[in-house]
Amino acid sequence: MRGKKRTKKAGANKKKVPINKDAYSDASKNSLGHEFLGEFYEDIHYQCYKCQQPAIFTAIQQKKSFEIRKEYMHQQRILCRNCWLKLRQLKCEMQNIEQLYSLDKEKMKSDKEFLQEWLFILKEIPKFGKKTNTARIRFIEKILGQ
Ligand SMILES: [Zn+2]
Repeated sequence: MRGKKRTKKAGANKKKVPINKDAYSDASKNSLGHEFLGEFYEDIHYQCYKCQQPAIFTAIQQKKSFEIRKEYMHQQRILCRNCWLKLRQLKCEMQNIEQLYSLDKEKMKSDKEFLQEWLFILKEIPKFGKKTNTARIRFIEKILGQ
């Protein structure tokens, strides 16, 4: 008896994280795959799209994402935490730029530095696996005379 209790499988001391399907978002519930979810989350190992470093989407993080923040269950993680934070920063800068532009288009169109920064961010974001905004890039390059 005693010996049996003591034999632990590798990783058995890791707490299992149960899946609560009912807590998923409606979009997830309606998606194919929801009914096939297992009982427990498992760590997902992946490589960051941007920096190529190995990263882990842990069981606990999955539970928080899908059940508390109600993220869509088929949304894939492709970035490590550092790169994800960098992307969030870029998106934030992009928002500021777009807002500045919409406030005074004519003035901003003549601000070369502003346009160059905008162009830089537009070209940087696709490196994180996001879509390239080709129309916007061409629009700015045209103003800059490139
Ligand atoms: Zn990374």
